[in-house]
Amino acid sequence: MSMEHCEYLPKCMFFNDVMQDMPKKSEELKAYYCKQHFTECARYIVLQALGRENVPAMLFPMQTDEAKRLIIEEEHWSDKYRKSDSAGTESTE
Ligand code: SF4
Repeated sequence: MSMEHCEYLPKCMFFNDVMQDMPKKSEELKAYYCKQHFTECARYIVLQALGRENVPAMLFPMQTDEAKRLIIEEEHWSDKYRKSDSAGTESTE
């Protein structure tokens, strides 16, 4: 049997905290994303790319543009950091 549900569902902060007050909307999103199309979920995408601690609490599953922006921003900064880091080791004073 293939895995069809998102592996993060039992612990997903979004559904366990943020969506508690919106049970109907929550069930709709869960049915679509968590139980079928989790690879399209913005939270899943950020989690895979940047780790659980970098997923904003209020990021909604459909906010994939925001997910991409966060990932690009993170890569940009770590890139910059790496560059300045190696530049630092090259220039011995
Ligand atoms: S919201 Fe996204 S990360 Fe959270 S359980 Fe659903 S599919 Fe997985």
